[in-house]
Amino acid sequence: MKELMKSFEKYTKTECGACGRFLELQKTEITYLGSVFALELPACPSCGTVFVPEELATGKMLEVEKILEDK
Ligand SMILES: [Zn+2]
Repeated sequence: MKELMKSFEKYTKTECGACGRFLELQKTEITYLGSVFALELPACPSCGTVFVPEELATGKMLEVEKILEDK
């Protein structure tokens, strides 16, 4: 999990496509497999658009499932 969060940090160097502002990690509630849980995801501080990292959208979902199991 720590590794996953660390991989999100690189997105704080990414600019929002709409505003050109750097993304910041913000606690965001996401729904996965019917459960809601909070993750720090890169989001635009200006327009609030949450960027879903590809790690989350693809293979690393396994780690997210692990989080759910830990609960
Ligand atoms: Zn924005």
